[in-house]
This record gives sequence, C-alpha cells and structure tokens, in this order.
Amino acid sequence: MSIYSLGTARTVQQLLEARRYYPTESVCLSPFCIEPITYPTHHAGRRQLFCSPRCRLKYRDYRNRLTAERSHLIDQINTGCLPRLTKIALEQQLSLLDWTLVHFPPTNWVKQSD
Ligand SMILES: [Zn+2]
Repeated sequence: MSIYSLGTARTVQQLLEARRYYPTESVCLSPFCIEPITYPTHHAGRRQLFCSPRCRLKYRDYRNRLTAERSHLIDQINTGCLPRLTKIALEQQLSLLDWTLVHFPPTNWVKQSD
C-alpha cells in the first residue's frame, strides 16, 4: 500500500493501514502565516489548525469580513439598476473574492485548538 492507494481500501485492515499515509504535519491555516502545526497522534483532543490564538482570531476576523463583503457585492449586483459596466466590475470583484475565500475555508467542522 502507498499514498497512491489512498481511497481504494476495501477492507477494515486496508483502511487501518492507510492511516500511516495521512499527513500529521502542516502549516498554520492562516494564509498570512507559515508556522508549523501538528496533529496530536498520541492522545485524543482538539486538533490544531492555527499556530496561535492570534492567528486563529485574525483568520476568523478576516474571513468574517470577506463573507460580509461578498453579501454586499451580491446585493448590489442583484439590484438590477446598475450601469452595465459597473455591474461587470462588481461581478469581476465577486469572482476575485470567491477565489480569495477558497483560501479561508470554514473551520467549524473540526474540533480545534491553537
Ligand atoms: Zn499562524
């Protein structure tokens, strides 16, 4: 079994063996940071996504602002009373914002610590 066989396990034993190929080290989830983080493999508990509380809070604040901005952009685009070129500019801005938000995924589905 190798990393290329991930996703092909058919038995419980194969699934258990695949675990060794799951990464347990990465970098802070904040796009502004490159500090390392690790998954706690030897104990149960919260999983680290950010290198520090400061990074977690900065990430959350920035993500909240980006998602609020996205709502405002969509509201303006959907008003229907904008000049055509303005609407095109806002749609291009929304496209950039959506691309940016890909780098800020929601984190509420992972129990985490920092
Ligand atoms: Zn960080």
